[in-house]
Amino acid sequence: ARPIVAIVGRPNVGKSTVFNRIIGDKLAIVEDKPGVTRDRLYGRGEWLDTEFSVIDTGGIEIEGEDQIMKSVRMQAELAIEEADVIVFMVDAKAGITPADSEVAEMLFRAKKPVIIAVNKVDNLKRMDDIYEFYSLGFGDVVGISGSHGTGIGDLLDEVIKHF
Ligand code: GDP
Ligand code: MG
Repeated sequence: ARPIVAIVGRPNVGKSTVFNRIIGDKLAIVEDKPGVTRDRLYGRGEWLDTEFSVIDTGGIEIEGEDQIMKSVRMQAELAIEEADVIVFMVDAKAGITPADSEVAEMLFRAKKPVIIAVNKVDNLKRMDDIYEFYSLGFGDVVGISGSHGTGIGDLLDEVIKHF
């Protein structure tokens, strides 16, 4: 079976944008489950002749208000269960939020490889914004821009090292 890469992070950091960049048009499965509007979105990715599956865990949204943290927690649990490598996505413009810290704690306990993708680094000046994310306690921090497609190759270089 192909290695599985899960993209985890709170809403609006850019998970789906980056997921679509990675998979192109290779969307695989969309399932529904009771209590969630959409199940995980799976796609297929390839980098340097290495094939893998990608999960956009943000496909899970629990219905109802004030359920964001519950959804994010579920996503992190799913990633921990299924993934070989976890891409923890955060937002360079927003900095570290309480939701980010909570996800970090869950992922830290998982003892699986985690790479932090700092998204919305839309120009080189923003590269300085990635350093604060080292304090979340994971080794690899990569600055990317889902909008521009920059840094995605560097991110995938780090990801496939862990297969
Ligand atoms: P998700 O909720 O984590 O799946 O995030 P989305 O992929 O839906 O993106 C949330 C918002 O951030 C959308 O308005 C995107 O257009 C925007 N966005 C995504 N990537 C970038 C980026 O690299 N730079 C900027 N400036 N905005 C981005
Ligand atoms: Mg999304």
